Amino acid sequence: MSEAAGTTLLEVRGLKKHFGGVKAVNGCDLEIHQGELVGLIGPNGAGKSTVVELLSGLVKPDAGTVVFDGREIQGLAPHEIFASGLARCFQLAKEWPQLTVLENLLIAIPPDGKDTIWRAFGSPRKARAAEAEARDRCLAIAEKYRLFPLRNDYAFTLSGGQKRLLEFARIALARPKLALLDEPMAGVNPVLQVQIEQGIRNLLDGGSTVLLIEHNLGFVERICDRVIVMVEGRVAASGSLAELRENPIVQDAYLGGVGAA
Ligand code: ADP
Ligand code: MG
Repeated sequence: MSEAAGTTLLEVRGLKKHFGGVKAVNGCDLEIHQGELVGLIGPNGAGKSTVVELLSGLVKPDAGTVVFDGREIQGLAPHEIFASGLARCFQLAKEWPQLTVLENLLIAIPPDGKDTIWRAFGSPRKARAAEAEARDRCLAIAEKYRLFPLRNDYAFTLSGGQKRLLEFARIALARPKLALLDEPMAGVNPVLQVQIEQGIRNLLDGGSTVLLIEHNLGFVERICDRVIVMVEGRVAASGSLAELRENPIVQDAYLGGVGAA
């Protein structure tokens, strides 16, 4: 964990989003600290995915504040929120099918503000060096995510699981302060699950904080520092899964409903 471990990175207050009569998110309050891996669980329809959409700016909240890294971000455009260091997996991460794996990685590196076409004209040697450095970074990430042998393949030829690894690699290149992962394990085989778990750990090792929506409670218990339970658009409780199992509200609304989970 970094020096800043324990400081509040994200603070959500009174977040609300109704779709017609559906109160998808209805007064959600939550906090995430620097360096944490937080699980977000709750029954289907509890509003978990909508929270992710609200945080990443794809859906505008009806009410509430979101303070991220010391700044209010509710209502900002998705690209502004992404530029501030908050990345949602499976959003950024849509691969470009007609580009190769390596090309997909290269375009995931955020611009550093200096890397303009004018620099290429003004100082071609420096521009070439920057390009070589970016390429090396991408190849190293490809290696880490087991994509190296596929680096020259078009993205449309990848399997579903390989596309998910490419998403992780792209997120890792973007180096977000906070990564929101909405059910990254859904529909992937056990071998890939191990790689995705490794991907999550890599993100943490790289300095990212992670919010993970996941319905496999065994996995959540094993990997997460803390778990937040959402029920009917709000946070019902937060703590370790062991603590939450003892919580009558959670038992009633959620754990009770899934038996011995
Ligand atoms: P979860 O991810 O916890 O399963 P969601 O956030 O996907 O829950 O959904 C919460 C509720 O909001 C559900 O009742 C869902 O049908 C509804 N909902 C989500 N997005 C929309 C939308 N764009 N339009 C209408 N209703 C929506
Ligand atoms: Mg969902």
